[in-house]
Amino acid sequence: MSRRIRALGLVSGGLDSTLALALMKEQGIEIEALNFSTGFCFTDHHRAMKSKRHRLRNEALRAGADLGVPVTVIDVSRTYFDDVLMSPKHGYGSNLNPCLDCRAYMLARARDHLQESGAEFVFTGEVLGQRPMSQHRRALGLVAKESGLADRLLRPLSAKLLPPTLPEREGWVDREKLLAISGRSRKIQLEEATRRGLDPNDIPQPAGGCCFLTDEAYTRKLRDWLDHQERPRHDPEAFVLLKVGRHLRLTDDVKVIVGRDESENAFLSLHRPGRWEFWARDFTGPVVLVEVGRDLRWEEIETIAGITARYGHGRDEGRVAVQFRAPEDADTPGRGGEGPVDEVVVPPTDLAAIEPLRI
Ligand code: SF4
Repeated sequence: MSRRIRALGLVSGGLDSTLALALMKEQGIEIEALNFSTGFCFTDHHRAMKSKRHRLRNEALRAGADLGVPVTVIDVSRTYFDDVLMSPKHGYGSNLNPCLDCRAYMLARARDHLQESGAEFVFTGEVLGQRPMSQHRRALGLVAKESGLADRLLRPLSAKLLPPTLPEREGWVDREKLLAISGRSRKIQLEEATRRGLDPNDIPQPAGGCCFLTDEAYTRKLRDWLDHQERPRHDPEAFVLLKVGRHLRLTDDVKVIVGRDESENAFLSLHRPGRWEFWARDFTGPVVLVEVGRDLRWEEIETIAGITARYGHGRDEGRVAVQFRAPEDADTPGRGGEGPVDEVVVPPTDLAAIEPLRI
């Protein structure tokens, strides 16, 4: 009896990787899907935020469940920061996205897993020409080489446009049944997914990438954070906070984070320890946290109070009472708890004065 061929599939849960899973499954390949968590993935963030605007599910797990494929989630966030984000050999894309190094890194981790899993090859949902930095022809070749996988790396969605890989040459997969997709349009993927009984409306199709490092606003905040660290280190709390709220820089050592909605306020409230907190006494409005390694000066307190007032429902009042608490007391449960709360009455700051502070 011929043995069943095993393969590892990199899956984010987007349309392309879900379709790649389906293609390999229908060729009778025994698949283990791998999902790498870098700490910057959209999915991690939406889950952490418990936002009503976003689904909480992990799309990679959803893709595995849809297709009956086991998914292993591998957290690489600690090493990813030093080995990829801070020192990308091939540089960044238009934001802080080190896509080429990132792909090579994830595929090298998959290669590490090949032997112990008994798999013969690795496949991905990459599409020739879909992303400017990491999916042009030369980049696909480079990533295959640098990951150490070489021709044990198959891209089923574009396979017919690429040189035959080992699994095709060995006849483990039928090249004729693979696809020849290129470019940014998702039309063929949508048709192929639908043909296989997948519901494309239920599968995310991220246009710009699968993580915050491709996001301009996030990148601005991350650069600012890096610029203000003596020795930047992997800091999961800092990275997740960069995804939440308006960020304002008052001085080199004072940063203000203003919640933008209920879910952000709830999230920021969990991160009060170690930070100053401001809120309007008589109006609903944002949770405002302040990161500073010293006591705030009175004029800074007034400035932050004015910002707090501006973003709350008292914004049209002449003066608003704003309460605040220094970090020692910030983990007292609930506002107005036992910890000493101070108060200042200030006019809401003009938006024009806030704008230059925005990171
Ligand atoms: S978008 Fe993010 S996760 Fe995807 S390859 Fe680029 S850096 Fe890596």
